[in-house]
Amino acid sequence: MSRILIIGAGGVGNVVAKKCAQHPEVFEEIVLASRTRAKCDAIAAEIKQLYNVTVQTAAVDADSVPQLVALLNVIKPQLVINVALPYQDLAIMDACLECGVNYLDTANYEPPDSAHFEYSWQWAYQDRFRDKGLMAVLGCGFDPGVTNIFCAWAQKHHFDSIKTIDILDCNAGDHGHPFATNFNPEINIREVTQVVRHWRDGQWIETPPILDDDCVHFSFDYPEAGPRESYLLYHEEMESLVRHIRGLKRIRFWMTFGQAYLTHLKVLENVGMTRIDAVDYEGHKIIPLRFLKALLPDPGSLGTNYTGKAVIGCVFDGVKDGRQSRKYIYNVCDHAEAFREVQAQAVSYTTGVPAMIGAMMMLTGEWRGAGVYNVEQLDPDRFMDCLNRFGLPWQIVDFDGRLPE
Ligand code: NDP
Repeated sequence: MSRILIIGAGGVGNVVAKKCAQHPEVFEEIVLASRTRAKCDAIAAEIKQLYNVTVQTAAVDADSVPQLVALLNVIKPQLVINVALPYQDLAIMDACLECGVNYLDTANYEPPDSAHFEYSWQWAYQDRFRDKGLMAVLGCGFDPGVTNIFCAWAQKHHFDSIKTIDILDCNAGDHGHPFATNFNPEINIREVTQVVRHWRDGQWIETPPILDDDCVHFSFDYPEAGPRESYLLYHEEMESLVRHIRGLKRIRFWMTFGQAYLTHLKVLENVGMTRIDAVDYEGHKIIPLRFLKALLPDPGSLGTNYTGKAVIGCVFDGVKDGRQSRKYIYNVCDHAEAFREVQAQAVSYTTGVPAMIGAMMMLTGEWRGAGVYNVEQLDPDRFMDCLNRFGLPWQIVDFDGRLPE
């Protein structure tokens, strides 16, 4: 009997729970837990109505290892799917180790008091997971996640060596709000306001943040979305890919931003609303970015009127059988179609579906191992097949476009 515990009932948690419920042959029992139990109950009620599947719910503060351990000891799942916030990753991994449970997440650990994310904290769990015979799979959303799988699959089937990778993430959708973020506003704004890094010839090169006049950007012609201004950004999957892709000389990550989004964000930054340190407000301490999050639309609610598409993929330049080869592998996800299926916008959808597929790989034994893994270290073939079958079909084409040097 397979039993999973999903932690986090936001935009992504909703998609993961619904996609798992669509596959009762693999996910025989589903428990959904989060800080606010009412959000879990609302998702469980929708799942009952949509698929006639019963999802148990629970309240948990996932910052508390004792609370997590108590919950895991009652539920006794084979696997925890962590789709709460990056702040909770280490506490959930600690609890999994204590209770002998496998682990999967979609975002790497980030300390709340410093806008800095990297894998070192979670890679440090390698020996403890290996010694207990448990598997932890890190970063199994879309980016990180599917982008890493595209790299592993390209390396396995299309290249003898890959020289450069450009990951291109385009959201060409329109949610109708003047300013909103597509996943948790606090995590999103921390990510996009930092100094940019990319990797070239063995070192990380820093360039200005996307709000700076000197930031690096260019127009890329995305399939189905057309030309969009794309900004160089630091993204976590690059940190593991430079370790695991043979012969890599350069890797960059690009994301599209509309001018209205950038203008709003610049104003918010200039007036101090993106600060993550505590400030005094009428005798209380408040963190401006957390207060801003309370004012912004809940990303899980954006789907209702969302139109347009998200297009995310990787361009590879490398060598196959002694010849230069350039390939582009990408997925196009339609916001309105995602909403029709699981009442979520495409960014939650493209994160939740791969988390479900990764969990399926682990429960069926397709992915097995003891220790901490980034997804590109695992076999990509069945995962690629599942993307086509479970809602995120991909294309591979020869690439003849232009990228900045
Ligand atoms: P949301 O803010 O919509 O949801 C987060 C959920 O986690 C909420 O239900 C929240 O509860 C819960 N939560 C927060 N803190 C705790 C806690 N201490 N204990 C228990 N539950 C808690 O975020 P998203 O669904 O948009 O994102 C979820 C995750 O997915 C994030 O880590 C994000 O970085 C990641 N992500 C990954 C992507 C990828 O492609 N790899 C892309 C997009 C997102 P409450 O409602 O009570 O606040």
